[in-house]
Amino acid sequence: MELWFSEKHTPSVKFSIQVDRQLYCGQSEFQRIDIFDSKEFGRFLTLDGFMMLTEKDEFIYHEMMVHIPMAVHPTAKKVLIIGGGDGGAIRELVRYPLVEHIDLVEIDELVVEVCKKHLPQTACCFNDERVTIHFQDGLKFIRRCENEYDLIIVDSTDPFGPGEGLFTKEFYGNCYKALKEDGIMVNQHESAFYLDDAVAMQRAHKRIVESFPISRVYQAHIPTYPSGHWLFGFASKKYHPIEDLKAVKWNAMGFKTRYYNTQLHVGAFALPNYVEELLKDVE
Ligand code: SAM
Repeated sequence: MELWFSEKHTPSVKFSIQVDRQLYCGQSEFQRIDIFDSKEFGRFLTLDGFMMLTEKDEFIYHEMMVHIPMAVHPTAKKVLIIGGGDGGAIRELVRYPLVEHIDLVEIDELVVEVCKKHLPQTACCFNDERVTIHFQDGLKFIRRCENEYDLIIVDSTDPFGPGEGLFTKEFYGNCYKALKEDGIMVNQHESAFYLDDAVAMQRAHKRIVESFPISRVYQAHIPTYPSGHWLFGFASKKYHPIEDLKAVKWNAMGFKTRYYNTQLHVGAFALPNYVEELLKDVE
């Protein structure tokens, strides 16, 4: 007997992984949560049937979400993560000794509980003394923040369901307000390849461009996300993602990474022409 997890990437395209066994299945107030184990990708987390992370390729996503902004602003001390209940972004951030405080705002307590139990590879650093977890809607949390954070990482689900509010103009405007005068926001920015994803990506980009003076998009290859070609947003009040890259300083920290390096940092902002055109259409 064969057991497969399948996710529709478009109405006529399916992505499937053969599953060894299902480790967890539950329904929270917000979403259905599943953890599977597989030969090729190891354990993986899905929410409402959508892939969130696999043990095999999560390093790409989390390294690119954290080290890109930290290499531009290596003295960031206070960081806000919105979403990210799997703990992967925290794991990368706590490696920086200068980071003094991390607020994680995750809407769904059950995601954290389940990841702690079944995904120790990512959910390994919640106990770091610099981390405070707030089980709240990020859209509401950010409304009361002003001039507080050096870095905001929006590690959200897709722009529907509980994550919808994290792609709104109101949210990005409040992120701007919550950042210090040299603050940076990075966000998972969907993909440009399939039409529906591209429309969502353009919508988010337009709103970020309207909210921040500096707004660039960068890319990574994430095999288990739709099309495998994934985009991230870099929005900032002061720092340019390439001109202000502190490559010497970052390399002197001696971090061992599997995907990120400072040459790739520069290259990640060089986008294919069709993506540049989609972005320019809404800038
Ligand atoms: N790497 C993933 C991806 O892009 O597919 C994101 C993973 S992380 C598990 C996303 C988290 O965002 C989920 O745990 C979800 O519960 C949380 N989330 C969704 N909407 C949220 C909201 N409005 N406020 C805070 N957290 C939210």
